[in-house]
Amino acid sequence: MRIVVKVGSNILTRSDGKPNVTNMSALVDQIAQLHGKGHQVVLVSSGAVACGRGSITPDHPLDSVAARQLFSSIGQIRLINYYSQLFSEYGIVVGQVLTQKENFSSPTSYENQQQCMLNLLGNNVIPIVNENDTASLTELMFTDNDELAGLIATMLSADMLIILSNVDGIYTGNPSDATSELISVVPQGRDLSECISGEQSGFGRGGMESKCGTAQRVSAQGIAVCIARGDRRNVLVDLMECPDEVPHTLFEPKMTDTL
Ligand code: GLU
Repeated sequence: MRIVVKVGSNILTRSDGKPNVTNMSALVDQIAQLHGKGHQVVLVSSGAVACGRGSITPDHPLDSVAARQLFSSIGQIRLINYYSQLFSEYGIVVGQVLTQKENFSSPTSYENQQQCMLNLLGNNVIPIVNENDTASLTELMFTDNDELAGLIATMLSADMLIILSNVDGIYTGNPSDATSELISVVPQGRDLSECISGEQSGFGRGGMESKCGTAQRVSAQGIAVCIARGDRRNVLVDLMECPDEVPHTLFEPKMTDTL
């Protein structure tokens, strides 16, 4: 199977802003297992800005664009170095793909981006994708990396998109309310607006509303989408092998013959 895994800043960063190498390493172990079983995995990883923020304290106030440029340029190096080292323990080569919304706009740029991804996968390399936060113009940015991961999954006709979050999936209400229940399956066309808030959490740009939007768009393309908790032990491998044993929300894919 071709699987796009998106992991957010909240899973990759500790509360003090330092990289969460424990979570990173656990995810790499699992992706390496999936890779070893013949799955093609693309990793869409946030965390550059958060890693950079934990590495430097600017001596004067910065506006949001300057802060993003500074932190992401420092943090992306740390992030990719961790991944590269952790995957090398398994003899797996990773490739860094930094992209921008413009690369999805014209047919020529789209095809170029697609060829790049297929080229890496064809050479048994795991692409690690992030937005090029140093160069992206604010008004032309992806809403967040959930949107980017959705576009990549569609571009590659992936079989599955797995969005790893800091909660188990979509709940019927606020996840911290005892009365809220995890929604395990979202059929095509189900309206979730009653269940989710537009709130963002912690370090990342995305929130549950945006994850739902991406999940609904991508599943309408015939690609299964799972939202699950990224720091749950063995979450990726279990989702592939014994999904009934992992709390998650599955957005059922639209059947392709009805597309
Ligand atoms: N590209 C940003 C980063 O790596 C994260 C965007 C998001 O939170 O979705 O820090």
